[in-house]
Amino acid sequence: MRADAETPLLRAEGLVRTHYGEGAPAHAVRGVDLTVRRGEFLAVTGPSGAGKSTLLHLLGGLQRPDSGSLWLAGECTDTYSEAHWAVQRRTRIGIVFQFFNLVSDLSVADNVELPALLAGIPPKQARPRREALLAELGLTGKERSMPGELSGGEQQRVALARALVNQPDLLLADEPAGSLDSRGTREVMRLLSRFHARGQTIVLVTHDARLASAADRVISFFDGCVADDAALDGGAPTRHRGISGVLELKD
Ligand code: ADP
Ligand code: MG
Repeated sequence: MRADAETPLLRAEGLVRTHYGEGAPAHAVRGVDLTVRRGEFLAVTGPSGAGKSTLLHLLGGLQRPDSGSLWLAGECTDTYSEAHWAVQRRTRIGIVFQFFNLVSDLSVADNVELPALLAGIPPKQARPRREALLAELGLTGKERSMPGELSGGEQQRVALARALVNQPDLLLADEPAGSLDSRGTREVMRLLSRFHARGQTIVLVTHDARLASAADRVISFFDGCVADDAALDGGAPTRHRGISGVLELKD
């Protein structure tokens, strides 16, 4: 695998995904090209139904594209089996969701340690990692609690610890503050910014444009397409592609 600093951590070309359910097919992702550099904090924002979650699922191998290709650290994922994707999500990709998805009958400590043990990390190493992360996330003393005993904000911090315990190259977050109050939201965003400051690559999906401003690049997603792609580097935004480009793409 080519994993030098110049190789994008993530590269997508022509990703398409249509959902066939009841009623008309939903063209959730309609041809997305995307590159994410190592260390970048990218926010994908857009209205409900724009296709943001579908895009994130494609990036994490939770769903497969109908067409298009995806490279992880220079390696084409098109031929990855489900099992191989699962390995990637255990080792190189951490994911947090809106509703935490913790294992309800495992303690906080076990929820965080489980992915490390599944990845073959010896318990002797998994435990100090778990302890360090929980301390960092302000959860010391909660190790023995069950998820149901925690506030939403605390549960999301446990989910963040679980996603980061294997020190993944990439963190994918789908509306991580979507079910939290304003305090929980600030807390999660502060933690994302802190991990990013330490070099964590993050793709954050949010319908809340205010949260997107924590990122250093914001993609506006609309109707399955990238409508705008702007670097927020302190100066004037650098636009890579305008909404007019998207309108031309549509029929
Ligand atoms: P967002 O996260 O931006 O709200 P989604 O990716 O969840 O958007 O959804 C995009 C479109 O695809 C919507 O029209 C949604 O109803 C549809 N969709 C998403 N997932 C499914 C699914 N599993 N089955 C059928 N339709 C789906
Ligand atoms: Mg969504």
